[in-house]
Amino acid sequence: MRDFTAELEQRKQAGLYRTRRHISGPQQPVLTADGKRLLSFCSNDYLGLANHPSNLEALRDALPKTGLGGAASHLVCGHHEAHHFLEERLAAFTGRSSALFFSTGYMANLGVISALVGRGDTVFSDRLNHASIIDGCILSRAKVRRYGHGDVGSLAAMLAETSGHKLVVTDGVFSMDGDVAPLRELAAVCREHGALLVVDDAHGFGVLGPRGQGSVAEFGLSEENVPVLIGTLGKAAGTSGAFVAGPGVLMDYLVQKARTYIYTTAMPPALALATCNSIDLIEQDDKRRIHLQGLIDRFRCEAKALGYSLMSSRTPIQPIMVGDNWAALALSRALEERGLLVTAIRPPTVPAGEARLRVTFSAAHSHEDLDSLMQALADCRHLLAGEGVAV
Ligand SMILES: *Cc1c(COP(=O)(O)O)cnc(C)c1O
Repeated sequence: MRDFTAELEQRKQAGLYRTRRHISGPQQPVLTADGKRLLSFCSNDYLGLANHPSNLEALRDALPKTGLGGAASHLVCGHHEAHHFLEERLAAFTGRSSALFFSTGYMANLGVISALVGRGDTVFSDRLNHASIIDGCILSRAKVRRYGHGDVGSLAAMLAETSGHKLVVTDGVFSMDGDVAPLRELAAVCREHGALLVVDDAHGFGVLGPRGQGSVAEFGLSEENVPVLIGTLGKAAGTSGAFVAGPGVLMDYLVQKARTYIYTTAMPPALALATCNSIDLIEQDDKRRIHLQGLIDRFRCEAKALGYSLMSSRTPIQPIMVGDNWAALALSRALEERGLLVTAIRPPTVPAGEARLRVTFSAAHSHEDLDSLMQALADCRHLLAGEGVAV
C-alpha cells in the first residue's frame, strides 16, 4: 500500500503541511480561533456582510416560509421559487439576460467549463487561474492550453493557430495576487478569434465596478463582450453559493448539460432569499466600498514604507510577498503572537518560491484595526531580512 504517513511527513519537512483552525462564533474581523481572540485579515468577507444583522434577519424570516432543506435536485423537485427569485435578482443586478444559481463557485466552474467544451475542443486558461477552473478544464476533456498570466499577446497567437470550438477562461480578480485581468483586451481577442469568454469574478463581485457589479462592469463590458460571467456568493455577498449569468440560451444549455448543477441537491431556499437581501445591501451602499478602498490605499502606502514587497493590486487582496515557505510561516506566527491572524499561502496554491501572506481587507475593518496590523508589521520587519525586504 502507498505510504500515506511518509507523504505527510515529507509535507511537514517541506513546510507545506496544512492544519485547520477551529473558529467559534460568527465570521467578523475579531475572531475566536482555537479559543484565542485574533484580529483577522484573511477572510473573503470583503464587505462585512457574512454577519450583517439584516442578512441574518432575512434568513430568519425566510425559514418558516421555505423550511430548511433543499430536498432534491433542481431538475427533480428542488427548484424552489426562492432560487428563481435570486436568479432574477442576480441577472438584473449584473445587467444580464439570465442567471443560474449553483451550490458553490467550485461547482459552477466545473459545471460550466465541462458543459461548454469537450473532447476535440480547446480551452485557454490563464496560468494563475483558480484551482476550480483548472479542475473544470481537466474534467472537460478538451485540450488545455495555459497562457502566461494576463498575457493577451501570447493568448492571441495561440488562438490564431487553433481551429474548432475555443473557450477562454480567466479569473476577473486573481485570488492570490489580487490583480485584475485585462478584460477589455481579452474580450477583443476572443471576439476576433471566435472564442467564448468566461470570466470568474469571485473576488470582483460586490467589490469592483458601479454599485459593486464586478470587474466586468467596471470595464464597461456587457454580455456581448463577456458572454459567461461567474460570481460567487460566499465572498463579498457573505452568504453561500455561486451563479453564472449570460444569454438565456447558454443558461438553458447549462441546465441541460452542467453535471454539477444537475446531480446535486438544491441549496436551502432560505439561503437564496437571504442572498437576495445581501444583493440589496451590495447595490445600495457605496459607503462600504469607499471605506474598503480607503483601508487598501492606506495599507499599500504604509506597508511599502516599511519595506514590504507588495503586488500590483488595487483590490482587497493585498499579498505580502515572502518567497520561502518557512519565512512565510514565521511571519504569520509572529503576527499571531501579536494578536493578528494572517495566513501564509504556500505552494501548490501559489507557484514554488512565491510563498506569501495573503492580507485581505473587509469593510468591517476599522482604521484602528489597520493601525494594529501596521504596528505588528513594523515589529516583525526584521523577520524578512534577506527575503527581499529592505530593513
Ligand atoms: C473562491 C473561488 C472559487 C470557489 O468559490 P466557492 O463558492 O468558494 O466554491 C472559484 N473561483 C475563484 C477565483 C475563487 O477565488
